Amino acid sequence: MSRPLPAGWPPYRLGSGIDLHTHSTASDGTVDPARIGPLARDAGLSVVALTDHDTTAGWGPAAAALPAGVTLVRGAEISCRWESRAGAGVGVHLLAYLFDPTEPTLAAIRQWLRTARAGRARQIVDRLAAAGFGLDWEQVLTIAARAPVGRPHIARALVEIGVVPDVPTAFASLLRSDSPYYVPKADAPVAETIAAVRRAGGAPVIAHARAARRGPALDDAALQQLAAAGLAGVEVDHPDHTAAERADLRAIAAAHALLITGSSDFHGSNKPANPLGAETTSPAAFDAMVAACSGIPLVAGSG
Ligand code: AMP
Ligand code: ZN
Ligand code: FE
Ligand code: FE
Repeated sequence: MSRPLPAGWPPYRLGSGIDLHTHSTASDGTVDPARIGPLARDAGLSVVALTDHDTTAGWGPAAAALPAGVTLVRGAEISCRWESRAGAGVGVHLLAYLFDPTEPTLAAIRQWLRTARAGRARQIVDRLAAAGFGLDWEQVLTIAARAPVGRPHIARALVEIGVVPDVPTAFASLLRSDSPYYVPKADAPVAETIAAVRRAGGAPVIAHARAARRGPALDDAALQQLAAAGLAGVEVDHPDHTAAERADLRAIAAAHALLITGSSDFHGSNKPANPLGAETTSPAAFDAMVAACSGIPLVAGSG
């Protein structure tokens, strides 16, 4: 008869998880990029990708503070759009891994998106202020701290002035995409952005590719066209996906030889339901993704 193991056993984490989608304060997360590596180690991860929205600003601090045993994948999540022939646009978040940040087309796309984000966030704040919510643009800029401005920064300003109790409540009310205060953000055409990521030696992977709870998603025909245009993979295991959505995506990925990834989409306390390592990528899919890249290397932690 086997003896019961002591409470809290084992006293270590296996440290083998691979999480390919996280955000820091370099965009709209709440954790400093320098803390991503240590938090990944504590969450039992061996690989973590930093994929801030439309920026590479967190790469340096994240790499400099990377602990031994953790490998950093430098990436970004690029705001894109698919224009269907029927004319209805579908928002697409394109994860890009290990791309050369100096490649001019992709660098210009990121710069254009960041500039457009600032104008759009200002419009949302102006609409809220005109409606009597005591919001102040300077306050939002202070919260964003030079990051590309997103709705989570506006949400935190609304929490600070007591309009809503927390960030998720702001998203469920004043900042919803059907709210009168909402202004859509500028997006880059997804096929052209996929081509730019490839030119930069990176791997393009569509984030939360089928999450109906986020609004209209790409259909099978669109994913087939994007696969032909150079898409490397689809993020299947994501907290926003249902079991049925995951099954659909796995079938599409198999049909078009796309890699399957899994990730948490960690945003710190802005998304408490998405802890680091909540979803992970298989070592085989990770190896294939890295093998598809020629832009920049992985960074191995030494701290
Ligand atoms: P934006 O890019 O400015 O339109 O803001 C979208 C960002 O807000 C995305 O990065 C999401 O991760 C985040 N977000 C969307 N919905 C929520 C929510 N319900 N609670 C917290 N963050 C959210
Ligand atoms: Zn985000
Ligand atoms: Fe996203
Ligand atoms: Fe994300």
